[in-house]
Amino acid sequence: MLLPFPTQNIPIQEIPVHKNRRLFIKREDLVHPQVSGNKYWKLFYNVNQYAAGNPGTPYLITFGGAFSNHISAVSAVGSLAGIPTLGIIRGEELQSKWRDNPTLAFAHRNGMNLKFVSREEYRHKEKLSGFLLKEFPEALIIPEGGTNEAAVEGVKMMLDDHTKDFDYLCTAVGTGGTVAGISKYAEDHQKIIGFKAVDDDSLESRICELTSIRNFELIDSHFGGYGKIKDETVRFINDFKRKFEIPLEPIYTGKMMQKVFEMMDEGYFPENSKILCFHTGGLQGIEGANLLLARQNRSLII
Ligand SMILES: *Cc1c(COP(=O)(O)O)cnc(C)c1O
Repeated sequence: MLLPFPTQNIPIQEIPVHKNRRLFIKREDLVHPQVSGNKYWKLFYNVNQYAAGNPGTPYLITFGGAFSNHISAVSAVGSLAGIPTLGIIRGEELQSKWRDNPTLAFAHRNGMNLKFVSREEYRHKEKLSGFLLKEFPEALIIPEGGTNEAAVEGVKMMLDDHTKDFDYLCTAVGTGGTVAGISKYAEDHQKIIGFKAVDDDSLESRICELTSIRNFELIDSHFGGYGKIKDETVRFINDFKRKFEIPLEPIYTGKMMQKVFEMMDEGYFPENSKILCFHTGGLQGIEGANLLLARQNRSLII
């Protein structure tokens, strides 16, 4: 199997918040050194089933933005498996400066071919996929963020006997595959909260197509928009790391935990409830975020 089952249990750590509520974090960021967090599980069946089908000329093709954790993960899988990869990247302007972007430079080091397209072309990815499949009929085309039905099945592996007792299961939401998988395979008594890193009203209906259960709630936690980073988030992430020795990144997990803390202060969670947040990884994004923050003379993530 290209992506093996992890040999050790993924640790669940308690975050001591002393408020008659118990908060925990499941460290999916530790699942693999290069393919971190939920991206590992979202790619698990997609890539393993594809490789098992023995395509004559295997090729992984996918889509993403300049700092995409998904692009990073797919490039690493390709490199580990010896399968060539193509990343369709949003933003023509990156063509001349991708070497300065740590995510794209990492993808390139992993052998990924990078093709830069305009935002307009990127919006019509389905059309692009059609052309690509004609050109590379044996390729596996993985959607942006890796969300599809196989990804939802993979997310099931983030749940096990150790996650069953919790009253709330929390995850950050980008394209919705992760929250859909948690919703689909949670226990009946569990409530799922998806923390939206993207200001996108169509997410809810897309998630409903992937899970038929309405056990989830979506809460806005984009703090000014997808990929926008406020100083208060940087402060929160740095405090969190100093206090609990757990790194968070500023696009998904940092914003989710910041919102969870706000909700705890506001009394959202009933007394004695047990809350589990999934650390979905993405720590590779810190380097790129710090480059942007440094350019704006702002405090950096430690
Ligand atoms: C991609 C990603 C998410 C969002 O996952 P979706 O399944 O697209 O909603 C959350 N956290 C991190 C760190 C990610 O990289």
